[in-house]
Amino acid sequence: MNYILIFFVAHWTSSVFCQTFFLHRYGAHSMFQMNRFWERFFHLATYITQGPSYLNPRAYAILHRMHHAYSDTEKDPHSPHYFKDVFSMMLVTKKTYDDFAYDRNEPERRFDGRVPTWPALDKLGQNWPVRILWCGGYIAFYYAFAPSAIWYALLPFHFLMGPTHGAIVNWGGHKYGYRNFDNKDKSVNSLFFDFLTFGELFQNNHHKFGMSPKFSARWFEVDPAWPLIRLFDFLGIIKITSQQRMRYPAPVQDGVGEPAAFIEPDADYPVAAE
Ligand SMILES: [Zn+2]
Ligand SMILES: [Zn+2]
Repeated sequence: MNYILIFFVAHWTSSVFCQTFFLHRYGAHSMFQMNRFWERFFHLATYITQGPSYLNPRAYAILHRMHHAYSDTEKDPHSPHYFKDVFSMMLVTKKTYDDFAYDRNEPERRFDGRVPTWPALDKLGQNWPVRILWCGGYIAFYYAFAPSAIWYALLPFHFLMGPTHGAIVNWGGHKYGYRNFDNKDKSVNSLFFDFLTFGELFQNNHHKFGMSPKFSARWFEVDPAWPLIRLFDFLGIIKITSQQRMRYPAPVQDGVGEPAAFIEPDADYPVAAE
């Protein structure tokens, strides 16, 4: 039994699930609600599964709301169409993220607020000695179970799990794939069955219907997070509050326009224009 492979897949999957479920769909978009206990539960789960590369929900939400508002323009914090490779894009993304995570920069007011906060945990997530301890833990696990030295090549993914998923989604999801909708940006859907990032690679769908908690739009598309979200709703862990759902083909513009992709301050809860 290859414990390294099991550990890698478990770490990848749990981490990307927390990113799409907690940081993205809940934190940045408020597509559903949960009580204090479950919010803390999933906040902690996000910290544990991202470990040394933990992304704090507020900085993530600000960056992500900017991305929706400015998708593939010069003000987009991470459009692949302004960088020569994924590494240069992620370096700039990291700088913008750090500006908000370390309070060096004030965001536009409409991008701030309405996010889960846990100051003690968010601070722990930015503590360097603790980050190094996490990395030491991964190395120790590999030392104990790696069948050969080549497996150590996977370690950087554990160290940088959160940004790795961000890089795949932000680069691939705006570059490689097909389009269902004309969003006036370069977002695409990269996979039919998004086993890699739990639905995040349906960027084209998501930029069209930004408040739909289900990211797949067509019969052959599978968003693996959606059945889990429905199960959590059924069990009473969360309550899906956004009424918007993907519709393919998209309804003809009725002059009202699509609802906002995130809740603007003092705005009513966005629902689909039926
Ligand atoms: Zn996008
Ligand atoms: Zn989004």
